[in-house]
Amino acid sequence: MQTIDTYDFRGKKAIVRVDFNVPLNEKFEITDDTRIRAAVPTLKKVLSGGGSLIIMSHLGRPKGVTEKYSLKHILGRVSELLGVPVQFADDCMKADAQASALKPGEVLVLENLRFYAEEEGKPRGLADDASEDVKKAAKAEIKEKQKEFVKKLASYADCYINDAFGTAHRAHASTALIASYFPNDKMFGYVMEGEIKAIEKVLGNPVKPVTAIIGGAKVSSKITIIEKLFDVCDNMIIGGGMVFTFMKAKGGKTGSSICEDDQLQLAADTLRKAEEKGVKIYLSEGVVAADKFDNNANVKVCSAMNIPDGWMGMDADDETLKVWEKVLHESKTVLWNGPVGVFEMPAFAKGTLRIAEILAEITAKGAFTLVGGGDSVAAVTQMGFADKVSYVSTGGGAMLEALEGKELPGIKAIRE
Ligand code: AMP
Repeated sequence: MQTIDTYDFRGKKAIVRVDFNVPLNEKFEITDDTRIRAAVPTLKKVLSGGGSLIIMSHLGRPKGVTEKYSLKHILGRVSELLGVPVQFADDCMKADAQASALKPGEVLVLENLRFYAEEEGKPRGLADDASEDVKKAAKAEIKEKQKEFVKKLASYADCYINDAFGTAHRAHASTALIASYFPNDKMFGYVMEGEIKAIEKVLGNPVKPVTAIIGGAKVSSKITIIEKLFDVCDNMIIGGGMVFTFMKAKGGKTGSSICEDDQLQLAADTLRKAEEKGVKIYLSEGVVAADKFDNNANVKVCSAMNIPDGWMGMDADDETLKVWEKVLHESKTVLWNGPVGVFEMPAFAKGTLRIAEILAEITAKGAFTLVGGGDSVAAVTQMGFADKVSYVSTGGGAMLEALEGKELPGIKAIRE
């Protein structure tokens, strides 16, 4: 397999799938350029190695050509960050002349791939009441057209780099299918390499003891990850709203806390599986409860097994945090997914903040700490701890699927 560090880019045109799906305000200004900055090392590596760049990405979820989702809005920032002018192909299917004229050091950005339904390979504009036959025919038609789409994109370049971890769980034209045109000239970019290494450090051969912290609202959305992690974990800390489904399954009284009554059996089975696998579970035994779902609610500390009627558990209490702190300080590998309280409200952010602080402390002592998937990423970033943990994943859905043990199409396409 080729790697970006050893590949000879001299005189080569590299088509690079990046994730430039950045938020824009109503004036089409970028409000957070993190994703663009993340791709810069990969893009600069090609340029400094004597190659030229054809950059492709999606932006938003357009259902056709839409001004709001044009990648032209971000060209200025890309040019600024790369330190070179960038050209733009305003139709990603009509870039032949521009691509073939590219000289080493030059950069061409293709317009939003998702202006074409072929990128995702899903039919558009089907009536809701379309018959199964019509749907099937439309699907077959778009899959056929998709082949031409992929072929055209591939025709622009000599090599392919996938650096879009955020879409690595999708088998789209630019994220997976195109790779087959470059059997000996395909590779991961640095973002992808970093994410893959981080996942392997947890799921592959982690340094023990391994602790996972799983939070968030619902156990149903995390159950596959929880069970997969039982294979590698010594300890699992469970916090957030999902705790109450476990507590109720154990016969507890959860007041008006969030609770999935249809998942009680699943929660009980999960606790039993943990025991069978020798994984020690640390539920949030004590909670800060509120009399309403509001930052200014009245609060009291109580046992998560015995929450009074009309009260709801909103955060882990100090005693629980002390127990968790001890477990985490004894751990060498830690994965964190999901806030352990309603961190969006300052009154109930303490537990989540404390977890971020502890992860920073143990990272400084040499533990490997990965924060991956959804709201925990937002929490560490917002709380200013993103650079104090070992790795913060950039891909929400992709990271969750990787942690569930699935092989991501974007990774498979490069490896096979
Ligand atoms: P998830 O996307 O599943 O990781 O869930 C994240 C959400 O869970 C956040 O919006 C939190 O506010 C929410 N959450 C965490 N703890 C609780 C709780 N005790 N009660 C209700 N929601 C919670």
